[in-house]
Amino acid sequence: MAEIKNKVVVIIGASSGIGEATAKKLASKGAKLVVAARREEKLRELVTSINQENIYFKKADVTKREEIQAVIDLAMEKFGRIDAIFNNAGIMPQGNLSALEFDKWQQMLDTNIMGVLNGIGAVLPIMKQQQDWLIISTDSVAGHVVYPGSAVYNGTKFAVRAIMEGLRQEERENGIRSTIISPGLVDTELVNTVGIKDLEETLKQSAKEEGLGLRAEDIANAVVYALEQPKGVAISEVLIRPSKQPV
Ligand code: NDP
Repeated sequence: MAEIKNKVVVIIGASSGIGEATAKKLASKGAKLVVAARREEKLRELVTSINQENIYFKKADVTKREEIQAVIDLAMEKFGRIDAIFNNAGIMPQGNLSALEFDKWQQMLDTNIMGVLNGIGAVLPIMKQQQDWLIISTDSVAGHVVYPGSAVYNGTKFAVRAIMEGLRQEERENGIRSTIISPGLVDTELVNTVGIKDLEETLKQSAKEEGLGLRAEDIANAVVYALEQPKGVAISEVLIRPSKQPV
């Protein structure tokens, strides 16, 4: 197994939920981290609560290419190397297509798809020099199945799966591995982005119930699993459902 201690990992979307839990878990195993998201205060609190050397934060909006580049630049400046990036930022507005919510659709595409591409694009040039890299993106069960009221979110997560598989095929000879982690319902702040009050309440309640919802730490464990593999082993995908989830 590869040791996580001293690995340099950049986590985009680390201010709450899965990203925050992953930062804490990796820090407890001695990783060096740069964490990013839009809510700077939450990042500051996270870094303060971890209270370790070699953890830095930077405010960044994943839809803005130059801000993600600045996160990568900070990691290179502090550590001279990056071993893995975790593209985890995402939002999940729901609603039928007939609602014609063009602005929400655009925001979701910009965050969930362009956000992942901005992360990949920022690291690819340095990765090729290093020849040993892991790019992890958070996909979803929603990237494997489609259900009504979620077509655009499903579409963004299908796109992440396709992009990450394309990345694997194109870069496998360059020491670059790609992993998607596809959770079912997880108890995080993501429900606050749903935009339909009744559905938000239902999801919030389900997420807290054992077997219907997962904890953010359950997903952080999958990130650890992918990171601990030796160089010759690529975990292409981890699909994690709460045990009673129907889809
Ligand atoms: P949270 O809402 O708790 O976390 C989302 C993270 O993404 C936050 O850190 C948020 O930070 C960040 N983020 C959102 N938009 C942007 C942006 N424009 N720029 C930078 N950061 C951004 O939810 P989760 O932890 O659940 O979500 C993490 C990932 O997991 C998402 O990709 C989501 O689609 C996926 N997922 C979640 C599931 C669930 O049931 N919770 C199930 C399957 C997949 P900030 O607001 O500070 O910018």
